[in-house]
Amino acid sequence: MKLVLECRQCGGPIELAETDHLVTCAYCNVSTFLVGSDYFRLTLPVRPQFSEVLQVPYLHFRGCFYSCTPGGVSARIGNHSLPGVELPFLPPNLSVRTQVMPMRFAVPADANFLTNHLTTAGIIERIGRKIAPVGGNVYHQALIGESVQLVYLPIARRGQQFFDAVAGTPLLGPAVEEDTLGALQETEPAWQLHQLATICPGCGWNLEGPRDSNVLYCRNCLSAWWFRDGRLVPLPFGMVRSRSQNVLYLPFWQLEVGGSPLPLASFADLIRLTNQPRVIQTDWEHWPLRFWVPAFKIRPDLYLKLAARLTLAQPAFDQREELPVGELPAVTLPQGEAIQSLVPILAYLTINRREVFPRLPELAFAIRDIRLFLLPFLTTGYELQQEQTGVLVNRQALGFGRAL
Ligand SMILES: [Zn+2]
Ligand SMILES: [Zn+2]
Repeated sequence: MKLVLECRQCGGPIELAETDHLVTCAYCNVSTFLVGSDYFRLTLPVRPQFSEVLQVPYLHFRGCFYSCTPGGVSARIGNHSLPGVELPFLPPNLSVRTQVMPMRFAVPADANFLTNHLTTAGIIERIGRKIAPVGGNVYHQALIGESVQLVYLPIARRGQQFFDAVAGTPLLGPAVEEDTLGALQETEPAWQLHQLATICPGCGWNLEGPRDSNVLYCRNCLSAWWFRDGRLVPLPFGMVRSRSQNVLYLPFWQLEVGGSPLPLASFADLIRLTNQPRVIQTDWEHWPLRFWVPAFKIRPDLYLKLAARLTLAQPAFDQREELPVGELPAVTLPQGEAIQSLVPILAYLTINRREVFPRLPELAFAIRDIRLFLLPFLTTGYELQQEQTGVLVNRQALGFGRAL
């Protein structure tokens, strides 16, 4: 996708990708951190012959579907766009429109927007079956969005006929009453694009980070910041020091959780429930249940493997509020998506599937604590190796993740 934004300082055009959050204007050099209230909401160019249009929301996402079936956990990358309202004449998807047209950020006051009713749970309901492996029960499905936007398709009415105002072509299907459309309209849009100055709220220094990161860092007061409730708030984080020079820092979410109604309160519970071949130590009964989940995009099978290995290792790192000297880690998988992946990770760890899988649909996790960890990976071999635990990651798979 190609997105265009007007610089809030000088009005100059800033071109960016849909995964970018930190952008710098080429004309005035001012940086801005972009966050949507929910998603980035984007509009397509309208043909000049249509003066009045209705903006119809499509949820456009790229991500991974995890399906838990008797055969195990399978993963499939998908790229879809689905209408967020039901109207009989809408195209089923946006097809190539989002790839070829430059898009702008939607401004609530600029047009008539229809309310989006589609959620990721709705997407699973609509197309989950098609994604699941053939045959057998599907006990649980999760969608981990790696890039999710709301793209509006402008439509225009001419008499009883509706037109696609991007292509200029008529939309086929039964007409709808004016009242029906009116009821779908969003009267007071509560969403907006937040454009934040990249100034550290703690000390006034400049915030930094890779352009596609959801988290920004301050090298002056050694802090990490993320967007919550309309502003930047400090994110609890820890960096684990390295003894090596050749090291790359990767970000992970540490999620402290309690599961129910299955007995999942401690690390010992996790080992018991999944039937992992390990002798349960008495200490483990008192260890909180902590999942370690990559905060970056990586091939789905490796994502599960990496999360499973670190979770089983339950590392007790000596962490500090410090930042790596070199490149700062890009947090490209938001914590909400990490939470969605907890059930698939648990399922992946489960050896006795026949007993546990039928209970997955009722399983819910309560999140007690979330923090970000920056972990050192040695870069000397073919694979990246987490320095303290020895857990390996394929180097190529990381490149894949970034381009995805
Ligand atoms: Zn500018
Ligand atoms: Zn600071």
